[in-house]
Amino acid sequence: MLLRDRVLGGLWGAIIGDALGVPVEFTSRQERRRDPVIDMRGYGTHHQPPGTWSDDSSLLLCTVETLCEAEYQPDQLADLFLAWLECGHWSPHGDVFDIGIATRTALHRIRQGIAPEWAGGAGERDNGNGSLMRILPVALRYADAPIEDMLFMAHRISALTHRHPRSQMACGLYCCMAKGLLYGLTPTEAYRFMLEQGLRYYNVAPFQTEYPHFARVLSGDLSDVLEDDISASGYVVHTLEASIWCLLTGRSYEEVVLKAVNLGDDTDTTGCVAGGIAGLHFGFANIPSPWIEMLARRSDVQGQIDAFFTH
Ligand SMILES: [Mg+2]
Repeated sequence: MLLRDRVLGGLWGAIIGDALGVPVEFTSRQERRRDPVIDMRGYGTHHQPPGTWSDDSSLLLCTVETLCEAEYQPDQLADLFLAWLECGHWSPHGDVFDIGIATRTALHRIRQGIAPEWAGGAGERDNGNGSLMRILPVALRYADAPIEDMLFMAHRISALTHRHPRSQMACGLYCCMAKGLLYGLTPTEAYRFMLEQGLRYYNVAPFQTEYPHFARVLSGDLSDVLEDDISASGYVVHTLEASIWCLLTGRSYEEVVLKAVNLGDDTDTTGCVAGGIAGLHFGFANIPSPWIEMLARRSDVQGQIDAFFTH
């Protein structure tokens, strides 16, 4: 498979996964079992038409945009995040209908003059999945760099909204998985690669003390976990676990991403995070084309993603 098919698959895959989850965000797994999502829906939780993405993809697209520049500038990324919050930049229909508490708090801090890389919450309770959901472009942009440079960038870019080592480490581990898939490793091999790299790099303060929280991810046998034991809450560790579990146990882009959404609860973000790595592995050509065609602002998204790839 061509690298282009993987890069486009990853980014489109994340946005489509988000849009599939938007209409059923906050619904229970029991409800999803009674009425599983099998296609792009509209309305529901946020009263949005089919193909509407949420904050996850808006912030991911801001990150794609800023990483098209020769050098990463935190101030520029912060400006794009504020443009989204205040003016609907990279929103699907011009307004913001979904935002996490940690992201809102951090962006208000930036507006008050706090330096972007010090804006994210660093408390134990500030470990929602709000930086993990937008981190994929970092893995793609820095895939050729030494792994410690890629992880350093993931931590810096997480810090704008999520500055705790647990959130940063979740982003770093996900980027390792993404890097492996980008270079053609199978999901099982990419998971092994993530464990090797992660265990090597994170064996230092302040990350070492986070190991117990990642015990199940780092155990190496996440694929043996039963669905009932996978949580799809907004906690960053749960989202990381759920997304890798969906990829390891699914056989197509469609199966992985629908599995993620049908876990219920934080459906858009689980869909987005799982959809990103599923798209990397199965490639753009395997994303059902009707889902792409239904997406809001399809040509704008295409233009930005193409610009990122050719950069
Ligand atoms: Mg969302």
